[in-house]
Formats: sequence, C-alpha cells, structure tokens
Amino acid sequence: MGLYFHHPASLLHDTGPHPENAGRIRAIEAVLEDAGWPGLERAEPPRAEREWLTRVHGAALVDAIEELCAAGGGAIDFDTVVVEASWEASLRAAGAAAEGARLLLEGAHGFVFCGLRPPGHHAESNRAMGFCLFNNAAVGAAHALAACGAERVLILDWDVHHGNGTAEIFDRRADVLYVSIHQSPLYPGTGAAGDFGSGPGDGMTLNLPVPPGAGGEEFRGMIEHVVAPAARSWRPDLLIISAGYDAHAGDPLANCVVEDHDYAAMTAAMRELGSEIGAPILVCLEGGYDPAALARSVLITVEELVGGPPPPSVSAVPVVADAVARVSAHERWRSAF
Ligand SMILES: [Zn+2]
Repeated sequence: MGLYFHHPASLLHDTGPHPENAGRIRAIEAVLEDAGWPGLERAEPPRAEREWLTRVHGAALVDAIEELCAAGGGAIDFDTVVVEASWEASLRAAGAAAEGARLLLEGAHGFVFCGLRPPGHHAESNRAMGFCLFNNAAVGAAHALAACGAERVLILDWDVHHGNGTAEIFDRRADVLYVSIHQSPLYPGTGAAGDFGSGPGDGMTLNLPVPPGAGGEEFRGMIEHVVAPAARSWRPDLLIISAGYDAHAGDPLANCVVEDHDYAAMTAAMRELGSEIGAPILVCLEGGYDPAALARSVLITVEELVGGPPPPSVSAVPVVADAVARVSAHERWRSAF
C-alpha cells in the first residue's frame, strides 16, 4: 500500500489566472477518485515545523513569506503570487514531504505521494520563485538526513524545468545526489551539463539536459543509463522524485513529448531500482499544466508504484549516450558505469 498526502489548503492557495492553480489538484483528485484511489491510503500531512524549513531556507525568507501572507498576500516575483491561505498551503506541502520521508524510513508504507501545491523545486535557500514558495523535496531530503536516520538521499527531478532551487540548496552537500532531467533551453536557464556541484558536493549534482522535442526515449534513457547505475553505486537510503508532469506532450509550458506510457515506464524503472537497492520512494508533485494530462499521469505514477512488470529496456539515444560519457568521466562516478 502507498500513502497519498493531500490537504484542502492546497485548493485555497489562489493564484488567480495562472497555470499553477487549484484546478490542477482538483483534476488529479477527480481522476484518482474515479479510479478508486488504487492501492492508496489517504491522509492529511502535518504543517512543516519552522525547524524543518530552516534546514534548507534562510529564516528571513520564511519570515518574509509568512508576513506577506499574513498581510493578505501579493506578488513575490512576476509569476509567483500568494494570498493569505498560501501560508497554510505551503506549510502542508513542505510538511508532507518531511512526514512522508519519516514514514518511509520507518518502513510504514511502500511509497508516499505528496499531491499538494504550491510546488517547490524552484525555491532556493533565500528566494521563492517560479510558482514555488518552499522547496518541498529539499525539506523532505533534509528531514530524512537530519531527523530520520538516512545517510544518503537521491532526488530525481523529472520536471521539464531545471530545479534550480534544489540544486542551489544542495550544491555543496555530499549526502544528497541531485539528478535533474530538464529541457534546455528553458526557464530558469540553470542546469548546465557541466555543473556537477561544488566543494564537498562535487559530482553530487547530475544535470541531464535534453533538447526541445525530447520524449520518452530521452527521459527513460536517462533513468536507465544514468540514474540507475549511479544509484546502484551510491546506495541512497531514500529516493525522492520531484515529479513534474510538464514534459508531457500535452503541456502548454514546454516543448517535450513525454507520453502517458513513458511516465509509466519511468515510474516502473524507479520502483524496480528502489526495490533493488532497498530504498523507498517519496514523490513530490512539482509542475504539470495540462490538467487532464497531469491527472492521468499522476494516476499512472501511483498505479506503477503499487506494482507491475519491469519496464522494457530502452537503448541510449545520442543525448543519453553523451550524458553517460560525461558523468562516467567524472572522478566521483568512474567506477559506477
Ligand atoms: Zn516545471
């Protein structure tokens, strides 16, 4: 059985006419309801405690968001807005990731899916941006490491945008492997293939950019040929998926062509990997702006996490082969491939 976290506060984070809106959650929950919430127990997550947030965010950012919400809301940047209820929504979204990590590391569930908003992966340590307030996946990873006994956490970010926030937060950390598959060029412009992290974190950031028009072969290939070998070598205790669904062919904000069945195969590959290395899977919802495609893809993700046959192997297309060559040439990963 899996656990699905959701909370009504996600519906009250009112962004107005905006692609990242409450309709996304309504669409997902309607599709899951129709499917009978397959293999899922549902629960409401706790609010993130301040200490959970300040492991990855500056206290000034936490205070600023709280104050802006308490004052009735406003714009943080061109495309990131809050209302009063956004505070509660952001605490529940971050709290779900942290609590999900805790439950998984206690062995309480097979997987946890955090179906909340706002999303998180663009939120940096000291800056909210790109529809994101707090970095939910980062809060979950930091909680796993600081409070739940994990020693190594792998975050796979398959949202079509680079997770600049997660990358920045863990840039120098040796205990978080951040892997991002993202379209390039695209917002926010970070995530260059040659950026491997800094200092003690050198080699612990793997950027896997793909060109506009990339689809299942590229996304699935990156998981099979880069993420899986790296994880088998490094043996993380927890796998976190920053699961955006905006690489979907139907998505209006990007130009990739991932299909429903590709998300099934990507999820199945991560399920098999987690099972092989003994690491449970925490999924944090990120982007995905075609509500119908998003909702179907979330259902598919949940169904595949519950179980299924191993995914068929895919050959390494050139952009994947290039990534394998680049990563395996890094000193950190020479023996992993
Ligand atoms: Zn995105």
